[in-house]
Amino acid sequence: MNVFVEKFADIKILRYSVPEFEKLELNKKIYIYYLSQAALCGRDILWDQNNRYNLAVRAVLENIFKTYSGNRESEMFSSFLVYLKRVWFSNGIHHHYSTEKIPTGFSEDYFDELVDKSDWKSFKIPSEKNFTAFIAEIKVVILNPETEQKRVNLEANKDLILSSANNYYQNVSQIEAEEYYSNLKSTAGTEPVSFGLNSTLVKESTQITEKVWKLNGKYSKAIEKVIFWLDKAVEYAENEPQKKYIRLLVEYYKTGDLAKFDEYSIEWVKEQHGDVDFVNGFIEVYGDPLGIKGSWESIVNYKDKEATKRAVILSENAQWFEDHSPVSPEFKKAEVKGVSAKVINVAILGGDCYPATPIGINLPNAEWIREKHGSKSVTIENITQAYFLDSLGNGMLEEFAGSAEEIERAKQFGYLAGNLHTDLHECLGHGSGKVREGVSTEALKNYYSTIEETRADLFALYYIMDEKMMELGLVPSIEAAKAEFDAYLRNGLLTQLTRIEPGKDIEESHMRNRQLIARWAYEAGKAENVVEFFKKDCKTFVRINDYLKLRNLFGHLLKEIQRIKSEGDFEAARNLVESYAVKVDRPLHDEILLRFKKLDLAPYAGFLNPVYELKTWPCGTPNDVLIRYDEDYTSQMLRYSNEYGFLPIEN
Ligand code: ZN
Repeated sequence: MNVFVEKFADIKILRYSVPEFEKLELNKKIYIYYLSQAALCGRDILWDQNNRYNLAVRAVLENIFKTYSGNRESEMFSSFLVYLKRVWFSNGIHHHYSTEKIPTGFSEDYFDELVDKSDWKSFKIPSEKNFTAFIAEIKVVILNPETEQKRVNLEANKDLILSSANNYYQNVSQIEAEEYYSNLKSTAGTEPVSFGLNSTLVKESTQITEKVWKLNGKYSKAIEKVIFWLDKAVEYAENEPQKKYIRLLVEYYKTGDLAKFDEYSIEWVKEQHGDVDFVNGFIEVYGDPLGIKGSWESIVNYKDKEATKRAVILSENAQWFEDHSPVSPEFKKAEVKGVSAKVINVAILGGDCYPATPIGINLPNAEWIREKHGSKSVTIENITQAYFLDSLGNGMLEEFAGSAEEIERAKQFGYLAGNLHTDLHECLGHGSGKVREGVSTEALKNYYSTIEETRADLFALYYIMDEKMMELGLVPSIEAAKAEFDAYLRNGLLTQLTRIEPGKDIEESHMRNRQLIARWAYEAGKAENVVEFFKKDCKTFVRINDYLKLRNLFGHLLKEIQRIKSEGDFEAARNLVESYAVKVDRPLHDEILLRFKKLDLAPYAGFLNPVYELKTWPCGTPNDVLIRYDEDYTSQMLRYSNEYGFLPIEN
């Protein structure tokens, strides 16, 4: 299977594989199949949430794509195709990341020609409109840069709702919405529901009301289908707790009752034993500048047994790692518990998780549920793997690695080493160490998260080269540890600069922590030439001359970072961060940007889903689920619109 599928505009489309799906027990395969159907049925909801014209625009563009009888080989038609692909990718007319309106790349005249030479006989428009007026409206929406400008506006000097083009509010101003919800919140107790999470707020004449997204409410046609497949899934659930939470979720979809959603979330968090798990609902609130409304999303996944084993081994040996760390004894935990993080593979992505997808999940979002009942946190192995495999072919490694050996090491061990780093960071790093009594995390103020990430990364870097890791069977050879050191310094000193705009400094805390570690180690080892920069053909590279000395430097810095956290030493934190983590070496930055640009890589990626096919006995009882990876991007998008397009174009 090829990971890379295609590239257009600033997007690349990749494919993830679903490892060992064929080997899953039949019941689990069928369970996943039904859940995956439920995951695809809410697609239209998200499109409509993103903008009220999205479903109409999609229908118009797809009809042109299917029936246009003019020249389909022309440059203009390619621009049209790119625009359609971008709209598909963003689930609407706004860029998925910047939320700005996507430029069409063709003129109004060309749009007229596309419409004229397409066949509209079987095209359905809302009954009260005539075709000409309808098309004229769509034309303005996609071609006039002044309308529907930005999906989510966060500039505080404007009315955030009126200036945002999402479809969560109708005829309501920011002040009215805020007042409406603060009134509701004032009536809440200590276990408040997430008011407004599942509704459109609408003002009709002077009356403000919520149109709830539920069966027989708004989006009913799609929700009905989601319920249909969830009901089927219940029969194949792995255990009673799963059945219980699916039934609660169905209840919630039927009633729109947010208290039911909380009940469901609590049961969902409690269920830890099954292999298959899923998210399906109105979850994340990034699409609403007020952070109230949940966009519809779904993801279905199952436990990656091999990768989870790694995390379990680390957790079981957590005390050994704590006892042997280079940290001062007074800042070590007498009793440490490893976090047994779960590693999963996704089987399907839907709604706001498709095609652009997260690489980890941490839910539920309701703060009181998290505090009282905990949360589930997972990393998605097959998505990170697809990213890694893609990165091997894109030329980045060849451009920025200092030697052929380094490239070879990265290809052979880079993926495993990166995962081990993440495991050590998550399972042990964050949980290690002890803070002096009376010191709070607030002592380090704005430097806290950089220092904390630095600490967890150093813990991982220090231990990945420890013999214990080989003893435990986690690191196959010292070469794997070297690959991680190479990758870490290459990224911290060179490649992560590709994500910084010219003239800017580093702000994001993970990027700061990586540069802090890499720069500090470079400076600290300078006298002994532990790490060096060198030039070849006017290009800058990094070389590690002594891996063991570098490991000792990591240990040394870990000790100091732990002290800073444990004592809440704000001055030392500021000093380290400001000296090593923030400032960018300008000439080096310019050079890196130029080299990166020549590679012509797409900054954003998204994923195609596999195709599942349910096989049944003549009586209709399922007897197998087949999986295929042969669908291309356009076919998948058109099929989804065709098979899962349940909503009318106006809602
Ligand atoms: Zn972290």
